[in-house]
Amino acid sequence: MSNPIISLNHVAFAYNKQPVLRDINLTIQPGEIIGLVGPNGAGKTTLLNLIQGILPHAAGITVFGGQPGNPTAKAATGSMLQGNLKLPRVHVAELISLIGDQYTHPLPTSEVLALTNLTAQANQNVATLSGGQLRRVTFACAIVHQPQLLFLDEPTVGMDAQARQEFWDLISRMRARHVTIIITSHYLEEIQHVADRIAILRQGRFAYVGRWDQLQAAHNGGQISFTTPLPPATFSHLPGVTQVVATADHLTLTSQDTDLTVQALVPFFTDLHHFTATRQSLETIYLDLVKEDDKNEEVSQPTAV
Ligand code: ADP
Repeated sequence: MSNPIISLNHVAFAYNKQPVLRDINLTIQPGEIIGLVGPNGAGKTTLLNLIQGILPHAAGITVFGGQPGNPTAKAATGSMLQGNLKLPRVHVAELISLIGDQYTHPLPTSEVLALTNLTAQANQNVATLSGGQLRRVTFACAIVHQPQLLFLDEPTVGMDAQARQEFWDLISRMRARHVTIIITSHYLEEIQHVADRIAILRQGRFAYVGRWDQLQAAHNGGQISFTTPLPPATFSHLPGVTQVVATADHLTLTSQDTDLTVQALVPFFTDLHHFTATRQSLETIYLDLVKEDDKNEEVSQPTAV
């Protein structure tokens, strides 16, 4: 295996003695795309700033084999932080080429424009661009020097659904170029399609690091609905079932383990109609995990489960 681009070993950080990150461990390999997610205030931006050397060095962080902010890391890193850059009133192509001129080996402006779907806007003044186009120009400025490592902090904020989709396509193009990317985003359902691994930060600790599908496999809960002439109480003690809700035409079982509950329903199948079973969405799993972590924080209390 090649050398990791980033390694975080027991990283901790505090602002004015107020701990924000505690015992962070993560190794990122070249070409990996990591989705860094977590509630507001969890410490995502702080972690990105530490890795980039924007904040004072914290022990345990290695980037491109050295301390954060080392010259190799700086030259090989591109970053698109929250919000739009204050861009001067110039044409799109002009701006990209101006930024490229600051580097030794920039990508040709035409290639950056094509990569970011901005060829049609090449001669348009940046002041007249739409929000989504402006974010793409900001992105173009971050990749013009062909970085091997990209930091994208909430890159799709303020974009409509189509602009977000175009942006995620753009990230896939970066994957083909083997760029290592760390993205923070609130759009879990979208980030799951681009990120190889997800790191869920909760109150300064990782609540989960790994692949989405493994997270979903480990959380087998869901809901099972059907119509039946049988009384609701028939189902309340089946394995996995935590709740039975009867509406006018349906019974809905909430289960901690849908596989187990479905197996236990087999003897009743002749009396079950309009059967549907739905696994928890990633959004629900994420929210549960974050909530579970809340409970863990209070684990010393006798009432905690
Ligand atoms: P996120 O990006 O996940 O929303 P942040 O890294 O911005 O989280 O913030 C984590 C915590 O650190 C929050 O409680 C925030 O208030 C605090 N914080 C962030 N920046 C500073 C700072 N410069 N000084 C003091 N506290 C800060």
